[in-house]
Parts: sequence; structure tokens; C-alpha cells
Amino acid sequence: DAVRHLQVRGARLGTRYIVLLAEDHTEAVRLDEVRRDFIANISHELKTPIGAVSLLAEALEPASDDPVQVRKFAARLSAEAQRLSKITAEIIDLSRLQSADALHQPTLVDLERVVAAAVDRNRVAADATGVTLVAKSAKDAYVYGDEALLVVAVHNLISNAIHYSPAGSRVGVGLRHADDAVEVSVTDQGVGIPEEDRERVFERFFRVDEARSRHTGGTGLGLAIVKHTVQNHGGDVRVWSQVDHGSTFTIRLPEASKVTPVPELSGDIR
Ligand code: ADP
Repeated sequence: DAVRHLQVRGARLGTRYIVLLAEDHTEAVRLDEVRRDFIANISHELKTPIGAVSLLAEALEPASDDPVQVRKFAARLSAEAQRLSKITAEIIDLSRLQSADALHQPTLVDLERVVAAAVDRNRVAADATGVTLVAKSAKDAYVYGDEALLVVAVHNLISNAIHYSPAGSRVGVGLRHADDAVEVSVTDQGVGIPEEDRERVFERFFRVDEARSRHTGGTGLGLAIVKHTVQNHGGDVRVWSQVDHGSTFTIRLPEASKVTPVPELSGDIR
């Protein structure tokens, strides 16, 4: 309706119509650039593990008489293959989230369940790192959306908090009602993020410390996935941080009143 209204107005006032078309064109150019950047990033990110796999495969044959070497190369091959599989899975997730119909079947989602599932998935990593994971939940925190996608988003925040924290520190996960929204926050006592990088951490493939992130298995896609998921749900994600003291990531989502019926499965909640 809004578009038809603008078109009628545009037809009457010729100049406005032209402005509207120019904006459409700019948006199309921007999307095209985003797409091209994404593909360039992907090729760059895949080149390193693919190169490592080829080199290791070539090195196996001449080393075939040395079982120690063979075992070493095989272990590294397996690690690179796992990294490749993680990157490709995340790229697929992200491109799905960027497509228009990512949320085609929104349902009423209980965030208490989302937080519990995301915390659960991170217990082993927390124990292995020596990080204490503490969750403080809330009742009746409902949103409309996709439960599995939200679990991945909260999981990514917790997993980062653990990754970028020292042993013996604490990661807190909170869920609370805030006006007409609900907030999930993840707080750590880790390395923190320099001010100039705080906006950029949500960009695809951006890492504050490339070497460290790669070493800990990072792909630079986790927070981009969080951002797109949250935006698809009509919310936003913010970061507060202090270098060497820690970070807090907060996801804010519009609260679905418990009495509101589940909307038709049309994907029009965005
Ligand atoms: P990665 O897979 O590298 O962790 P993300 O997209 O999840 O990618 O995060 C991007 C970058 O943001 C990370 O490489 C890291 O430098 C920084 N970062 C994310 N979460 C935290 C955190 N909790 N504490 C400190 N730095 C973080």
C-alpha cells in the first residue's frame, strides 16, 4: 500500500518519483557491493585451509615410511578439514539469514528455553577452559521468531565469552524484561575489545586479533550471524567493553505478549 501510495504521488509530482527510483537504484548498487565483498571474503578465507590441505596431502607420500610424520600430517589434515567444514557451515547459515525469507515460520519462543539450551551447549567448553558459567534466567520472556536460530545466536555469544576469557574467570548469562522488550546479556571478564573495533566485530570475517582468533578456531562469522539473526527478529545487539577487564554483549528483542495469538505463518513479522 505504501509503495502504491508513493507511486501515485510520484506520478503526480514527477520529481518525487525520480527520487524514489534513485533511492532504489542506490540500494541495489549497495546490495551488489555487499554481495561482491562477501564472495571476495569467502574466497580469501577458504584459500588458507584449502592450501594447507593440499600441502599436507602432498607431504604424506614422501613421508610414508615414517609413521610418526604420517600421524602428525594426518592429525593436521583432520584439523584443517574440520575448520573448512566449520567455515562452510557458517557461510551457509549467514547467507540464509541474509536472504529475505529467513523467518518464514515465526512461532512463540520462550527465551528461558533458548538461554538454557545455549548454556547447556557451552558447558563442556567452559569446563575445558576452566571458566565458571553462571546463568540467571527469567520467566515469561516470550518473543516471536525461530527458536533454533535464537539458540545459535545466544550460543555464539557465550562461546565467544569463553574463548576470549582466562581460566578461573566467570561468564554470566542473564535474561530480563526491559520495558516492551526482553534482553539476553552475556558478560565475561576476558580480554575486552578496543573501542575502535567495537562496531567492526559484527562485520563478517572481522577479528580483533587475527592470529589469536584463528588459533582458537575463530572464523570471524559468529557475531555477523548474531547480528543478522537479531535483526531478522526486529531487535538489535550491542556491546560494552573495557580492554583487559571484559565485555558484555546484549541482545534486545521485542517482547511478545503472552495473550497475543501467534501470527499467521507469513513471515511478515519483520
Ligand atoms: P570469531 O569466530 O573470530 O570469534 P566472531 O564474529 O564471533 O568471530 O567475533 C569477531 C571478533 O570479535 C573475534 O575475533 C574477537 O576478536 C572479538 N570478540 C568477540 N567476542 C569477544 C569477547 N567476548 N571478548 C573479546 N573479544 C571478542
